[in-house]
Amino acid sequence: MPEARPLPTMQYGDFSRMAYERSLRQDRIIKAQLELTYRCNLHCRHCYTDPYNGKEFFPRELTVAEIQGLFGEMHDMGVVWLNLTGGDIFMHPDFFEIYEAAYRKGFLLQLYTNGTLFTRAIIERLKTLPPFTIDISCHSVNEERFDWFTQVPGSYRAFMRGVTLLRESGLPFMLKTKLMDWNKDELGDIRAFTESFGQRFGYTTSLSPRLNGDCTSLAYRIDPQDLRRLEHIDAPGEAEERCAAQEEIVGPDSNRLYRCGCGTNSIHINAWGELGTCTLQYEHRVSLRARSLNDAVTEVFAAVRSRQYHSDSPCRSCDFHRFCEKKPTDARWEQGDAEAPIPYDCDTALVSAENTLGHTLIHPLTAGTVAAVKTP
Ligand code: SF4
Ligand code: SF4
Repeated sequence: MPEARPLPTMQYGDFSRMAYERSLRQDRIIKAQLELTYRCNLHCRHCYTDPYNGKEFFPRELTVAEIQGLFGEMHDMGVVWLNLTGGDIFMHPDFFEIYEAAYRKGFLLQLYTNGTLFTRAIIERLKTLPPFTIDISCHSVNEERFDWFTQVPGSYRAFMRGVTLLRESGLPFMLKTKLMDWNKDELGDIRAFTESFGQRFGYTTSLSPRLNGDCTSLAYRIDPQDLRRLEHIDAPGEAEERCAAQEEIVGPDSNRLYRCGCGTNSIHINAWGELGTCTLQYEHRVSLRARSLNDAVTEVFAAVRSRQYHSDSPCRSCDFHRFCEKKPTDARWEQGDAEAPIPYDCDTALVSAENTLGHTLIHPLTAGTVAAVKTP
């Protein structure tokens, strides 16, 4: 009999950092996000997937067998973290068959849900094979406003039932908030609610056009001046995700169109089986019904990595790029050109840079190539 040797153990933070650094060195994929379905019981007013939440679209979605095949390919590729999202994952009629297949592959599973569909039966089943974490959207703690935003009466009560069940279960979960124009005055209440679960409060603010190009969801964006005021009071959750390099105003060192993490170590697969580099990158996609995951990653990553600015867009040499959340697909839908600046993103980049650096800067769209010039 070979001698049984225990596996070495390490803190999760050390493991995560090591896996991330190794993925960059070895050019490997370690994170995947899979949209199981566009079905959802809610119709949130800002939702980018909602246009495809209709029964005429459901036959296009990946089958359970196709999803299970993808899990095998992800496993062989070395994926560690797998995020299952929607729509709402619990609207998928075969959710647990899919979930258990993913669990058996050994992925660290992160579930995104609106929290309104939890029942005791679902909780008990999850407890037998616990996920790594469950993220639940919480954009309001006011019944009337919550139901107005989801456009479904009774959704707030269902949400409260869900998070109460989760709290009692001991399963790991996190509340997350998108701060918008309609809920900004609720910030204190949402913070108190989140902290009542022993969680640290944070929020994000970016909104994108819907997947069909409809930009009406952008009407819910928070005003950049409100953001300026709030950022002085609250350190937003997304600030924690910013890399340390975002501390300085400095021009880009290349002409690359994608200056974010797109095309490094993560993949996104939508409910129709189209592979991309992130949730909202729709300039380059390949159908996994026609190609293996490996081939699709090679093709899409090469396309994203090689995209350059060709026009004289201000983004090309913008000194604010490290503070900016502009996504090329958003720019194409909103401005008609993936290279064009998005004025709203310029405004929020300015606010973010000024709050971080503590002094006034010239607006990205009026600064030209001397954006870093500071005013006293
Ligand atoms: S819960 Fe999520 S998927 Fe459902 S409508 Fe709201 S934002 Fe969209
Ligand atoms: S701040 Fe404006 S100009 Fe600069 S990269 Fe962002 S969208 Fe482009």
